Amino acid sequence: MKTSISLSPTIIVIFGGTGDLNLRKLAPALYNLYSEGYMPEKYAIIGTARRPLDDDKFRNTLMEGVNSFSRTGKVHKDKWESFSKNIYYQSSDVKDSASFDELRIVIEKFKDEFGPETQIVYYLAVSPDLFPAIAKRLAKFKLAENEDNCRIVVEKPFGKDLDTARELNELLKERFKEKQIYRIDHYLGKETVQNIMAFRFANSFLEPLWNRNYIDHVQISVTEQLGVGDRGGYYDGSGALRDMIQNHLLQLLCIIGMETPINFDADEIRDKKVDVLKAMRPFSAEDIRFNTVRGQYSKGWIKGTEVPAYRSEKDVPDDSNTETFAAIKFFVDNWRWKGIPFYVRTGKCLTQSSSLITIQFKDVPHQVFPGGAAENWQQNRLIISIQPEMSIRLQVQGKRPGLDMILNPVDMVFDYKGTYTTESPEAYETLLLDVMTGDQTQFMRADQVEIAWELLMPVINAWEQKKSLSFPNYTAGSVGPENAEALIARDGFHWFTLPLNKD
Ligand code: NAP
Repeated sequence: MKTSISLSPTIIVIFGGTGDLNLRKLAPALYNLYSEGYMPEKYAIIGTARRPLDDDKFRNTLMEGVNSFSRTGKVHKDKWESFSKNIYYQSSDVKDSASFDELRIVIEKFKDEFGPETQIVYYLAVSPDLFPAIAKRLAKFKLAENEDNCRIVVEKPFGKDLDTARELNELLKERFKEKQIYRIDHYLGKETVQNIMAFRFANSFLEPLWNRNYIDHVQISVTEQLGVGDRGGYYDGSGALRDMIQNHLLQLLCIIGMETPINFDADEIRDKKVDVLKAMRPFSAEDIRFNTVRGQYSKGWIKGTEVPAYRSEKDVPDDSNTETFAAIKFFVDNWRWKGIPFYVRTGKCLTQSSSLITIQFKDVPHQVFPGGAAENWQQNRLIISIQPEMSIRLQVQGKRPGLDMILNPVDMVFDYKGTYTTESPEAYETLLLDVMTGDQTQFMRADQVEIAWELLMPVINAWEQKKSLSFPNYTAGSVGPENAEALIARDGFHWFTLPLNKD
């Protein structure tokens, strides 16, 4: 966690330089960091991929990416020129060892120019099946030997299950130190997610209430209006559980559930998160039956456009068993949370795109108001909205103006837009800067990834072994399968949504 910045000269090698991730996220993030004065004084960005391109063509490709996807809009001509003169392209196949020899020569040239303090970041923005090829050759060609200033960023997905995650961890651990490995979960870089830490640990009023005595349940809901689009081939091998819950949603749960850290040291924070994962109740066959729900969308309408059924999407088999929706009731068996349900849901082609954490507090122990006054009674809620709105709302009861005593739930709101004039950085800006400063707080440690997989493997296995007979079981544009409503309604609650959708 940074409060001031001083960066050594940096070489950033992006494997998959011409790919979607670089165009959409990395290049805009690096350009915005540069524009706002957060890039090192001396830097070189080297993109690599197989297709032949020269530096200028590569720079233009990235500029188009920035123009289309940057939160700050189209590039400023002069700024882009001074930023992009440090961008280079090398055509290479990561499966070909000769490419790494060539890369070594380029890196040595910049190191000589930049000086001995030069740090190197290798960003693996390629398909996960290429991670091992790159890691092995980086080690073989001694390109990441200096453990203090060579870092490797590994994109998601980190493994497809517990075995493959362990395998990848082993492969990386044999070649690099854990302090060199930055496993990305971009949710952790989001401004509102970082603010949960600030809100929880910088305000004294919250901690006494943050436990099973005052909270009756927690909801974490990440819903998307979009379907799988062109990513059907990838998505069908993944599904909502692997793609969203194993990483993003469990990480959010950890931030809500973790104990107070002693300080902001990266390992201290990650230790506290791992403790939550360790305390999570393992799934028995009965839990899987009663506490998990899977869904897959049928055709429907979203924003006036007809959406095909998942099984009719490009590259998706017409008998696919892959879930596009998942809802799970988790328990964290420790002193703080014993018995308190954490309901988690995520899905595609739903009514709203929103990421929301709702903490519902227990009801007052005794009702002192006459029945008529409390008709709109609502237990207190803390609502953390990550997107599209970036806000924290505390729902309390207030008296409606007038001569009668009538209570009404009202929101005390901290809204980023209303409070600050500066725009929030994109998650990838925060995370790339963290990599350059060597701060691993917002990155997944090996044990975190493995425990999260371990927790979900019984559900993944059960869903794979027993094909759903009810798929498709929700209409595109709806709130999801009925069973997901029943999962939470059985306990007397309902999924909370904010009455807005700025998409
Ligand atoms: P992509 O668009 O398919 O890009 C893949 C890149 O890898 C291209 O630049 C491709 O260029 C290069 N490549 C493929 N085979 C290669 C080889 N043998 N040697 C060298 N380069 C090779 O994929 P992406 O969407 O950018 O995703 C990359 C990674 O980021 C994946 O792990 C993905 O899960 C993750 N991710 C992506 C996003 C996103 O928004 N796109 C979001 C989160 C995570 P050539 O064909 O020219 O070689």
